[in-house]
Amino acid sequence: MPATDTSPPAGDALADDALLTPTTATVDLSAVRHNARLVQQRAAPADLMAVVKADAYGHGAIRVARALRAEGVSHFAVARVPEALELRAAGIEAPIQVFAAPLPEHLPAYARHRLGVTVSSPAIADALVELAAGRAPSAAPIRAHVKVETGMERLGEPPEEAAATVRRLAGTDGVEVAGLWTHFAAAADPEQEAFTRRQLEILQEAAEAAGPLPNGRVHAANTPATMHFEESFRALGPTFVRCGLALYGLTLFPPAVRASLDGAQLRPAMRFSSKITHLKTIEAGASVSYGRGWTAPERVRLATVGCGYGDGYARILSGRAEVGVAGQRFPVVGRICMDLMMVNLGPPADAPPAEVGDEVVLFGPGGPHAQEVADWSETIPYEVATRVTTRVPRRYPGEATATAAATAPRVPAHASSNGHAE
Ligand SMILES: *Cc1c(COP(=O)(O)O)cnc(C)c1O
Repeated sequence: MPATDTSPPAGDALADDALLTPTTATVDLSAVRHNARLVQQRAAPADLMAVVKADAYGHGAIRVARALRAEGVSHFAVARVPEALELRAAGIEAPIQVFAAPLPEHLPAYARHRLGVTVSSPAIADALVELAAGRAPSAAPIRAHVKVETGMERLGEPPEEAAATVRRLAGTDGVEVAGLWTHFAAAADPEQEAFTRRQLEILQEAAEAAGPLPNGRVHAANTPATMHFEESFRALGPTFVRCGLALYGLTLFPPAVRASLDGAQLRPAMRFSSKITHLKTIEAGASVSYGRGWTAPERVRLATVGCGYGDGYARILSGRAEVGVAGQRFPVVGRICMDLMMVNLGPPADAPPAEVGDEVVLFGPGGPHAQEVADWSETIPYEVATRVTTRVPRRYPGEATATAAATAPRVPAHASSNGHAE
């Protein structure tokens, strides 16, 4: 191909061309703001620590964090250091807690970028004390959130040990104890409330043993606890609710229960959709997709949709899921492929007047709820949103331009500079 045909487009054209995929995730930031307001009203006077890990559960961490800042949210949390750096690079100066247990060699980066450290072992406390000793006295203190093991058996120190760690760090120059905290194992399950209550008590006992935290808060509640176990924030004095899922308009409850709970007022923020890229009528007996797992029982209109497991639409949804087309539901038939999947629109006489280019809603308004997709794929809404891959551009209606996912590989400025464009 002549070089002139492959020269990269500049500016807007490049940005537009980067969006030429049938599959997109449309994120309604006004829904995120609505959900944040609901959570803040419910939790007040507790503050919201907005959890934007995993690219804000697939919604786009920078866009979501900015929208939340506009809603008055002043504390954020992520799981990993690079996630925090992405927010810092975008100009988010608010406190950010990093949930992961740091490896000692990661700690200097926490100090450089003013990140909250999860202290979940004496070894991490040691490393923190050592780091603080080597810093200039004028440096801003490193914020530590000491984690208590209360029943999750994941991260945290036993209560007495955590209390001792708090006292030790509180007496260390250059370190500020910003939190004493735990995480619930089963806050969404009313049948396990006694266990959840016990986790809260253990945290309270640790807090008593630790003594007052002049610049810190004792915190525990995630979304399920915030929605369904009010004591988790009411019983703790100045505290945070650490919510992620609710901000994206999702809860953990099955549909029958969901409707009767406060969570019903949450507005799902993501609409995951694709397009029909090929359309035909197949005869009875025609087998569809890899493995020939589905055979048409009659003559039907078959839509090939430009979405697959490479976009985060899990292969286990094959033969189980429905999608929304023109306001109706239709079944996914045959094996879902990496980039494509097939939808049975029914016998030609009954099929909707669909055309190539028509929208297919995988979940969100106009299609199934993310909870239904979770049920069909034997998982939870957290995973359904988070597994939408980086090759799916995120669109933000109401903003001037759509963007490719923040973490997606950028289109190289000189895509064909090697002269071997294909
Ligand atoms: C992810 C996470 C949260 C947020 O949980 P949601 O249920 O999404 O609100 C809170 N705390 C910790 C420690 C987490 O890892």
